[in-house]
Amino acid sequence: MLDSDSHAGRVALVTGAGRGIGRAIADAHAAAGASVIYLDHDAALVEEAAAAATARGWRAVAVTADVADEASVAEAVRRGTEALGPVTLLVNNAGISPKTGSAGGKAFVWDMQADEWRRVLDVNLTGAFLVTRAVVPQMREARYGRIVSISSVAGRTYCDIVGVHYAATKAALIGFTKHLAGELGPAGITVNAVAPGRIDTPLMRGTSAETNEAVRQATPLQRLGTPEEVAAVCLFLTSDKAGFVTGQVCDVAGGWLMT
Ligand code: NAP
Repeated sequence: MLDSDSHAGRVALVTGAGRGIGRAIADAHAAAGASVIYLDHDAALVEEAAAAATARGWRAVAVTADVADEASVAEAVRRGTEALGPVTLLVNNAGISPKTGSAGGKAFVWDMQADEWRRVLDVNLTGAFLVTRAVVPQMREARYGRIVSISSVAGRTYCDIVGVHYAATKAALIGFTKHLAGELGPAGITVNAVAPGRIDTPLMRGTSAETNEAVRQATPLQRLGTPEEVAAVCLFLTSDKAGFVTGQVCDVAGGWLMT
């Protein structure tokens, strides 16, 4: 069990924090006493999220950046750090799952455009790399760090809801996690991944009601997850109490995938 001020004195950066799972993760960290940099590419959304956090008495600042853009990430980290201090907790959450297939659902490989493939890799994978690279020097300096990346059940097994670009990036984030756990462990930095199943967010609502109902039925717990349930697992992984957990993938999927 975490104390109510388990993250006091820490500075957390959460990407894609304007809404959905990212906002829940950022809010959970702020509620646990961390100072939180809310990062999203949607300025209005992220400013509203950080303002709502501040109104609750939490320490929060909004920064706008496209995680796929190197200069934009560097500037956002600079501004966030200037406002709240060096980052020692990072959650790579920003991700996209385009639904551009001819029938309005996922794109199959035979009609997927190369530009779309590249954009999904840029945001979901290169974005995690760019933000991680920008904050790791601060963690190494502190000789303490926690990095969590949001993968997906779709990166662990076949999932017919998403496209191959999305699945490939989510699987790659697991390799990213394990490699960095080895590389950064000696500096006191843990690196883990969380793999959600079907979580009720705006991203998921791009999928048909029938598909979401089929997933619900295939999930032993017989429901979709909530952003707060994903946030709770991230909060544990970024806490001091998870100090001996690294290189792991934790499913938050209601038993949809059991390995
Ligand atoms: P969401 O509701 O779409 O929220 C994602 C947030 O990230 C949005 O505010 C989005 O802005 C922002 N974002 C997108 N591209 C960005 C970029 N290039 N730079 C900065 N911010 C960007 O998604 P979610 O459902 O909360 O998903 C969060 C993470 O969980 C994603 O990595 C997703 O793959 C993963 N996940 C979700 C589910 C699920 O069922 N929901 C399951 C497994 C894994 P825009 O809306 O403007 O794009």
